[in-house]
Amino acid sequence: MQVRTRFAPSPTGFMHLGGVRTALYAYLYARQHNGSFILRIEDTDQERYVEGATEVIYDTLRDCGLNWDEGPDIGGPCGPYIQSERKDTYLPYAEQLVKSGHAYYCFCSKEEIEERREKVEAAGGTWKYDKHCLHLSPEEIAAKKAAGIPWTIRMNAPTEGETSYHDVVFGDMTFQNAESMDDMVLIKQDGMPTYNFANVIDDHLMGITHVMRGMEYLSSTPRYNYLYTALGWEIPTYIHLPTVMRDATHKLSKRSGDAYYSDYMEKGYLTEALINYLALVGWNPGTDREFFTLPELVEAFDVARINKAPGIFDVDKLTWFNAEYIRRMDKQRYLEMVTPWFDKALAGKGIDYPRLAELMQERTEIFSRVPEMVAFLAELPDYDIELYTHKKMKTDAAVSKANLEMIRPVLEAIGPWTEQEIHDRVMEAIAAAGLKNGAVLWPLRIAISGQANTPGGAFEIAWLLGKEETLRRLDIGLKKLAKS
Ligand code: GLU
Repeated sequence: MQVRTRFAPSPTGFMHLGGVRTALYAYLYARQHNGSFILRIEDTDQERYVEGATEVIYDTLRDCGLNWDEGPDIGGPCGPYIQSERKDTYLPYAEQLVKSGHAYYCFCSKEEIEERREKVEAAGGTWKYDKHCLHLSPEEIAAKKAAGIPWTIRMNAPTEGETSYHDVVFGDMTFQNAESMDDMVLIKQDGMPTYNFANVIDDHLMGITHVMRGMEYLSSTPRYNYLYTALGWEIPTYIHLPTVMRDATHKLSKRSGDAYYSDYMEKGYLTEALINYLALVGWNPGTDREFFTLPELVEAFDVARINKAPGIFDVDKLTWFNAEYIRRMDKQRYLEMVTPWFDKALAGKGIDYPRLAELMQERTEIFSRVPEMVAFLAELPDYDIELYTHKKMKTDAAVSKANLEMIRPVLEAIGPWTEQEIHDRVMEAIAAAGLKNGAVLWPLRIAISGQANTPGGAFEIAWLLGKEETLRRLDIGLKKLAKS
């Protein structure tokens, strides 16, 4: 059997992380079975149409390296791959279901349904469409149609019995038909299929063998199976995926800014790190191994190791992955990626980016934190002179003042302002004065950076700032210390 999986997003304008993970697993499964990965856009809910939303889907999948073999932009043997462009495909199947008694025309207006719903609910019941139109005769139907009354086609759902099916992840599932099914609309008044109907028709017509989707669809699956069976079609293999959660009780959400792929890109996470981590949210390789490229995931992935329990997406863990990916990144690529983030704090300040990049690469966890980490190079922060006091370095304000006064003329006398020169002259002077390194280098770094944590030490920072700025900052430090 030729494996065919699909990713079938509805274009909402955003790619939820859970969706990215569904796409990833469907991609991995197809690739490892030399099958096909299909992209289908489920946009029959035109009310929810969002401009540019399909581009968000394409761009995200491409960024992630999840290349599809058939899809709206590249076509394929089962196209078109956008449901709204397949509008005419669905009605004949709905009509076939009407003929076989599995569906029926419904002429109830919204208002009529609303009225009956209110009555049922007022009496304490739960509303379900009441099969009001199920028994219309062919003549009545023809007359209503001729009179121009808008109609829908509804599924004639069983009201008793149960439906069982097997899910690869969740095992044997059984649902009571009375609870899990209703006479859902298949074709809407505007002629469009509903999402639930089009999904089944297209999965069949597109030859999908393995349906991977979020576990929120577990309870909808009996309806789909009812339709497959009624149409005489083979039911695909189901692989429902556990929800991606922030923690045991919270979903990822738009409000908390952690739900969408774009949220993470804006914060400066790397796609490779995100994909690597996301693969492990809901699946484990059965070993301690944590690092996987996409091709390595194709090798290692195993649907038998998908967990049932919700996958906890831990941002700290992602950040850790991200830092590791950055550390392992080639220097040149890091420089290219970090440059726009340097620019946010340092544009036009004449700071040497390649050198700064060398100092920053090890310390970068996510790119969005870079500007604040390097901002001190653009402008000396207003710091507290408490920073000069450091037990281990054996410095306090008085020691710092004396040592900075000692080192200032040494720095001023340096000819070629290179890191080597700065290093050699300063170390010489420290040795000559019989001081501990820290007692000079600590206050020097505080004076020129204004902060306790910096990328690089005193020599690197002094070089990056240039001689003039280094001396200017030293003088500011001395002035602060003189006042103390
Ligand atoms: N269009 C559905 C969604 O975006 C996909 C469901 C499925 O994969 O069957 O949630």
